[in-house]
This record gives sequence, C-alpha cells and structure tokens, in this order.
Amino acid sequence: MKTLSIIIPCYNEESVIEATYRRIKTVLDALPAISPQMIFINDGSEDKTMYILSDIAQKDPTVKVINFSRNFGHQAAVTAGIHHCDSDFAVIIDADLQDPPELIPDLLAKQEEEQANVVYCVRRKRAGESKFKLWTAKKFYRALNKMAEVDFPLDTGDFRLIDAQIIEQFKRFKERGKYIRGLISWIGFKQTPFYYEREARFAGETKYSLKKMLSFATTALFYFSKKPLLIATGLGFLTVVIGVIMALWYIFGKIFGYTNAESGWTSIMIIVIFFGGIQLLTIGVLGQYIGILFDEVKERPEYIVDNVVEA
Ligand code: UDP
Ligand code: MG
Repeated sequence: MKTLSIIIPCYNEESVIEATYRRIKTVLDALPAISPQMIFINDGSEDKTMYILSDIAQKDPTVKVINFSRNFGHQAAVTAGIHHCDSDFAVIIDADLQDPPELIPDLLAKQEEEQANVVYCVRRKRAGESKFKLWTAKKFYRALNKMAEVDFPLDTGDFRLIDAQIIEQFKRFKERGKYIRGLISWIGFKQTPFYYEREARFAGETKYSLKKMLSFATTALFYFSKKPLLIATGLGFLTVVIGVIMALWYIFGKIFGYTNAESGWTSIMIIVIFFGGIQLLTIGVLGQYIGILFDEVKERPEYIVDNVVEA
C-alpha cells in the first residue's frame, strides 16, 4: 500500500483549521489503496490553532502536529513538514482552503498517468486576492524568471504533489533561506503541470504581511540569481564609459578653448549625485549577498521544534 502525507503549514488559522481538517479527511477517507497521514506544522500561532490541532491529533492517529517554538515563516514550516515525511508521496497545501483538497485524487491520478515525480498546480484564476497582490506577483515572477538560473513555471504556488525521490533530494538542501517552489523545480526529474482555479480564503486574513512578502521575494531573487551582481557591474562599466567621455570632452575643451572651466557647478553636482547613487546601489547589492552569506555561514537551524503531537 502506498503512503501519502499531506503537509499543511498553519499560522493563526483558528478560524479555518477545523474545517480544513475535515475537508482533507473526507478526501483521504475516499482514497482507495492509500495509507494517508496529515502533518500539520503549527508555525508559532498565537491563537487557538495549537489547541485545536492537539485535540485533533489525540483523536485521529493519522494526524501529526509539529509545534514550532515561535513563528519561523511559511517556507520553514513547509520545510519541516517535508523533513518529517517519509511517505511515497506528499502533497503540500495551504491551511486556508485556497487550494481545494478535493483535487488531491486528481493529482495522484495525474502522477500515475504521467509517471511524474512532481505534479505542480498552476492557477488559472485566483479569487479573492487584492489587485496589488495579483499585479506584484505577476510582475515579480516574470522578472524572476528572466534573472534566475532555472526556468520556473509561472503562476504556481507550493500546492503540489511530490514523490519519494523529490522528498529525499529535498532533505539534502542545507540552505537556510528556502524558496521551496524554486528548489523543487531545480531538483529536476519529471515535473508536470496541473491546472486549477484558486479559491478565495475560506476564513481569516492573509498571514503574508508586506514584510513577509518582501522577504520571500528577496530570498527567491538572491538565492536563485547572480544577475543583480552582473547588473551592478554593468552600471559600474557604464559610468566609467561616461566618465571617460566627459574627461576627454573637458580636456579637449581646455586645449581648444570651447569650454569655460569656471562655470559648471550644476554639471559637477549632477555627476556627483549620479555616481554616488550608482555606488550606493552597487554596494547595496553586494551587501545583500554578504548578508545572505553571513546568515548561511552561521548554520543556525532553520526552525526550532517545540514538540510533536501524535496519538
Ligand atoms: N503561514 C505560515 N507561517 C507564516 C505565514 C503563513 O505557516 O508565517 C501559512 C498559513 O497558515 C497558510 C499558508 O502559510 O496555510 C499561506 O499563507 P496565507 O494563506 O496567509 O498566504 P496567501 O495565500 O495570502 O498568500
Ligand atoms: Mg492563502
């Protein structure tokens, strides 16, 4: 009998978590010839999520709850789920029912049909998201694709099915900053899309603050691309060229007398500001990578588990 784990990261999801559990349970109960498990990662919720989950885990032997010592973020929570999973297949799914659990059998069928190692879900529509989020996400993922070393499929989230081979390879990643959908693409093997319509959140509010979104985007960009360094170098090169042309212009101007050296305060200020700006920008880009090196070199654990609840 094949085993299947459902990995569900949860942060302050008291208003949905019970419904999520029941909906997934119904789907899993109807699956033939599969031994299912649910792994909930409670990412340091400050509300009643932990109590609700503990209650569920005590009654249902197929449920495992991993409680973090504090909030470590969505990607760390999913990572912990994969680390704690040794099934033949795993499905990563959000706790807010935006990704319908009813699609799980379809994902399994698609896997079987195509013998794929990954079945990643591509959103055809996204209900209930702000215009700002849709627009920034669209622009960001397209820009990221231009910059990144790997070609990422567009309009996908972490909602996907992965098999034992991917799980095993994923466990080998030592980096702390994880951009999971990118890493799974990076692993390779056979990856197949599955098209679906993303629903609105069942209840509660988004747990992705602007700050979390920015940090997520930064990890995606700087962990998967060295292009920003190349752009910085390009800017440096451009300014050198401009500098040389201007130097020649002024030197010849002095010799042939077509410039007046005294006036020129404005042009000097413009040049100073322009070059200063480019230098700061370039140092900033360097700083990003140094910051990442600093974080990675410390080799701190990516998350701390307080306890695991199982029946
Ligand atoms: N989440 C988490 N830790 C966080 C933020 C979010 O585990 O710090 C979980 C959250 O409970 C949900 C999933 O990650 O299951 C996606 O979050 P959310 O639905 O708020 O993001 P959105 O769909 O708005 O992008
Ligand atoms: Mg959501």
